[in-house]
Amino acid sequence: MNAKLNDPERSLDKVPRKMFIDGEWVNAVSGRTFDVFNPATGRVIASVPEGDKEDIDRAVKAARRTYEQRTWLNIVPSERAKILWRVADLIEARAADIALVETLDNGMPQALAQWTIGGGAEAFRYYAGWVTKIHGITSDISVPGTQFHSYTLREPVGVAGLIIPWNGPFTFACAKLSVALAAGCSCVLKPAEETPLNALVLAEILQEAGVPAGVVNIVTGFGHTAGAALAAHPGVDKIGFTGSTDVGKMIVNAAASNLKKVTLELGGKSPVVVFDDADLEKTVAGAAMGVFTNSGQICVAGSRLYVQRKVYEPVVDGLSQVAKGMKLGHGFDPTAQIGPLISEKQLTRVTSMIKSGLDEGAQVVAGGQRGEGSGYFVQPTVITGAAPTARVMREEIFGPVVSVLPFDDIEAVAAAANDTTYGLAAAVWTRDVSKAHTLARRLQAGMVWVNCHLVYDMSMPFGGYKQSGWGRENGLEGLEAYLQTKSVFVQL
Ligand code: ADP
Repeated sequence: MNAKLNDPERSLDKVPRKMFIDGEWVNAVSGRTFDVFNPATGRVIASVPEGDKEDIDRAVKAARRTYEQRTWLNIVPSERAKILWRVADLIEARAADIALVETLDNGMPQALAQWTIGGGAEAFRYYAGWVTKIHGITSDISVPGTQFHSYTLREPVGVAGLIIPWNGPFTFACAKLSVALAAGCSCVLKPAEETPLNALVLAEILQEAGVPAGVVNIVTGFGHTAGAALAAHPGVDKIGFTGSTDVGKMIVNAAASNLKKVTLELGGKSPVVVFDDADLEKTVAGAAMGVFTNSGQICVAGSRLYVQRKVYEPVVDGLSQVAKGMKLGHGFDPTAQIGPLISEKQLTRVTSMIKSGLDEGAQVVAGGQRGEGSGYFVQPTVITGAAPTARVMREEIFGPVVSVLPFDDIEAVAAAANDTTYGLAAAVWTRDVSKAHTLARRLQAGMVWVNCHLVYDMSMPFGGYKQSGWGRENGLEGLEAYLQTKSVFVQL
C-alpha cells in the first residue's frame, strides 16, 4: 500500500507551505506550524503555519485596505469576469495534481476528488457570468411637485470572512471565493485544520489569474483560534460558513459584536422516503449512494431511511447487500468505494454513535465495525429498529451509517421525516407524481430530490431550513448574500 502511495505524494511538493496574506507567502506571526495527516494511513504528510488572532488581523487589514481602496472593484466587470474564468481554466490545467492532494489530505476516492475539483472550476465559471449582470433598478417615485431620478446600486457587502469544512476542501474554497469575488468583496478564507493544503494551491491560482494582492487572503489555523478570531473581527462585514450546527451557533454569537451579515450551511439528518411503488433497484442504489458517498461525510447524507412496510424487507436486504459488498480502501485504489473517515476524532465519533444505537436497542444488519489497518476506516453500516428518539435517529453522524424504519402512510411519514431539528435535504422515491409533489411540499427541507439523490447545480439554491442554516448558496440567491443595496435619490 505504501509503495502505491509514494507516487501521488509527489503532488505534495507543489503545495505551498505558507499562508497567503496581502499577496505574500508568510509564516504565522508566532512561527508555529501544525501537522496535516493522511487519513488513509494516519501518517503526517505536511506541516503548515498555525495562524492565530494576529495573522487573521493582518489578513483582515489587507482585505479591508483593498476593499476601501476599491482595488478589485475598480477593475471593470468584464475584466473581473475574465479573471474568474481564468481561475477555472487554471484549476483545470492543474486538476490532476489538485485531485491527488485532495485524496491525500481528505481521503476521498480519486474519482470523487476529480469530480469535486471539476465542480470547483464550474463555480468560478458560473459566477464569472454574473459579474457583468449585477445591477439595480430605477423608480419613478411619488413625491408631489418635485421630480426625482431614483435608483438603486448593488454593492459588495464588504470584507467577507469565509470558513470552510474538511469534507470537500477544494470545492468549498472555490464555492465560497467565487461568489464573494463575483460580488466584489475582498476575502479572508480559513480552511479546515484537517485539510488546509488545496486552499493554498487555490491561492497560487488566484494570484496567477490576476486577482490583485490583498483581495484574497488565506489563513491556515484552528477553528477555536483563527476561525473564532475571524468570526469576531470588527473589520469583517460578513461571514460565509459551512460546518457543524454547533459551530454555526458560535459564529452567530461572535458575529453579533459588529452585526456581521451571516450565511450558514450547517448539518443535516436528511430523510429518504421510499414508497412501495418505487423502482426498488434504482431506489436501493440511489439511497446507498446518498448516504455512503464520501464515507457519509456529506451534509446532505440521507441518514434516515423510511420505507413503506410492504417493501421494507427487500429494501433493507438490498441496502445491506450493497453495504456488505462495498470495498474499503485508500483513495488511490481504483476498486475502493469507501475511503477513510477524516480523522481519529471522527472515527471515534462514528463508532461510538453505532454503539449508542445498539445500546438503545437497535440492530446492526450490515457493517458496524472499524476497517482494517491504521487508517480511519469504518464499514458502511445499516441499522434497523432504532426508536425515533434514539441518538442515531436524531444526531448527525457524518459517517457511512443509515438507520432504516418502516412506515404505513404518507401522513405518518411526513410527520416522522419532519421530526428533527435539521432541515437540509430530503429524498422521495416513488412512481406516483401526486405523492412525490405532495411530499415535496410537506417536507421541511431546503432541497428535495425525487427519484434521485445528491443532484447539485450551481444555478439551484443550496441551503437549509430550521437549524440546517441561514440563507442560500449558489444561484442568484447565493450572490445576493454577498451584496447590499443602496437607494439613491437625485432631485432634478
Ligand atoms: P466538524 O465538526 O465537522 O469538524 P466544524 O464546524 O467544527 O466541523 O468545522 C468547520 C470549520 O469551522 C473549520 O474550518 C473549523 O476550523 C471552523 N471552526 C471550528 N470552531 C470554530 C469557531 N469556534 N469559530 C470559528 N470557526 C470555527
